[in-house]
Amino acid sequence: MKNQVVVIGAGLTGLTTAFYLKKAGVDVVVLEKKEQPGGVIQTHHENGFVFESGPNTGVLGSPEAAELMEDLKEHCTLEIANPEAKRRLILKHGKWHDIPSGLIGGITTPLFSWYDKFRLLGEPFRKPGTNPHESLADLVKRRMGQSFLDYAIDPFILGVYAGDPSLLVPKYALPKLYNLEQDFGSFVGGAVKKSRMPKTDREKKATRDVFSVEGGLTNMINALVKEIGEDCIQCNCQDLTVEYIDANNYRVKTGDTSIETPYVVTTSGAHTLPSMLNFIEPSMMDKIANLKYARVIEAAIGFNDWQGGDIKAFGGLIPFKENRDILGVLFMNSFLKNRAPEKGALLTVFMGGVRKEELANANDEEAREIIGRELTDLMKLPEFKPDLFKLVRYDYAIPQYGADSGMRFATVEQLEQQYQGLIIAGNLRDGIGMADRIKQGRTIAAELSEQFK
Ligand SMILES: Cc1cc2nc3c(=O)[nH]c(=O)nc-3n(C[C@H](O)[C@H](O)[C@H](O)COP(=O)(O)OP(=O)(O)OC[C@H]3O[C@@H](n4cnc5c(N)ncnc54)[C@H](O)[C@@H]3O)c2cc1C
Repeated sequence: MKNQVVVIGAGLTGLTTAFYLKKAGVDVVVLEKKEQPGGVIQTHHENGFVFESGPNTGVLGSPEAAELMEDLKEHCTLEIANPEAKRRLILKHGKWHDIPSGLIGGITTPLFSWYDKFRLLGEPFRKPGTNPHESLADLVKRRMGQSFLDYAIDPFILGVYAGDPSLLVPKYALPKLYNLEQDFGSFVGGAVKKSRMPKTDREKKATRDVFSVEGGLTNMINALVKEIGEDCIQCNCQDLTVEYIDANNYRVKTGDTSIETPYVVTTSGAHTLPSMLNFIEPSMMDKIANLKYARVIEAAIGFNDWQGGDIKAFGGLIPFKENRDILGVLFMNSFLKNRAPEKGALLTVFMGGVRKEELANANDEEAREIIGRELTDLMKLPEFKPDLFKLVRYDYAIPQYGADSGMRFATVEQLEQQYQGLIIAGNLRDGIGMADRIKQGRTIAAELSEQFK
């Protein structure tokens, strides 16, 4: 059997790549290990609740993400979160506080110290850093102060990366923030200048809008599958291996299937590559596969009749300093339609992460006890008796772009030069969010389809 491109992994990256290749007229097959496509994106329906067991929402932060939703609109409907999603809470000394949005809120908020608020006035005049491997924690302390690190950046990083700001390196993990300092010399001044710069119509498509899809994110996956064609996606592919024959000549084997192809695109996590690409020298492979991932437990918790406190917000994040046993909670039904019965609530809770990894080892009973205890206290619940309680465990949830990232990206580049036709993609590079994955898939598809013109 021959194919022009073999894509390994039917998560969002693999399916986006395949969709745009197909659109460009390139013959593609997607090989997936699990029983169904979607990767970590999976929506479930139960007793009036519609809940996700992977990502809950994305941000339309790249034009490619907005364009994909346009391209799929015949099969699924983009849902932009309602304005409640703009309200976000941070826990301080056991109480929720709104993240300030305007100047007055910024001055009066108890989240940050008076010293740091005053010191922020001098932020535009502080010299840019010179160490490209400076940690996020050091960068924020240097420019903004300890309380901004503890009660703004730290909880944000827990929410996005389940990570540790002292291990993440902004050059790789938050390149937009890093570039504000490098290009404009200041976060505050840079953000203002950037917002005033003229944008092309395409650039304007990237927004901060929080999005999902009506009925859940699986509908986006189903739309991609429909467009690609079910016959081009093969699931249940076990023990998949790739053999390098010579440049632009690979043999991909799984079960009884053997496919010869000039192009192989891997989109599975870094940890899956050593057994799959065993023609690559172990010393080189180690530099890719040593990528650390945060381990997390995700819980979807539903109540038919919500008796707890105010949940008219996107959710609440919990700074590490508060020393609680959950990372944060999302109030899903407050900003997305039809996620819970009318008087009910659907919450998503995360626990574990890089700094509390031992909590990701909790068994089901322990996890329920911990989450119940924390939610009863934090959400002012009279008792913890949910009508829905579902746990999902991820040993490789979110990749942590630390100081070793530069070496990893250079190794990927070197291998792609050495083995022409091999593309090592997925979340080991180019960003962790859904919009980043879509952008990567689209970019690879555009580059590859050029080869067939
Ligand atoms: C718990 C969690 C919460 C998240 N929350 C958000 C969020 O709120 N917002 C956001 O923007 N992003 C979020 N993300 C990140 C986002 O979900 C991912 O970036 C994106 O969905 C990953 O897509 P992917 O295709 O790169 O990887 P995956 O979805 O992991 O897909 C990779 C695929 O490769 C397959 N595979 C693995 N090994 C093999 C093999 N040997 N052979 C064949 N196939 C193989 C896997 O089975 C899988 O289907 C979250 C991620 C997780 C885990």
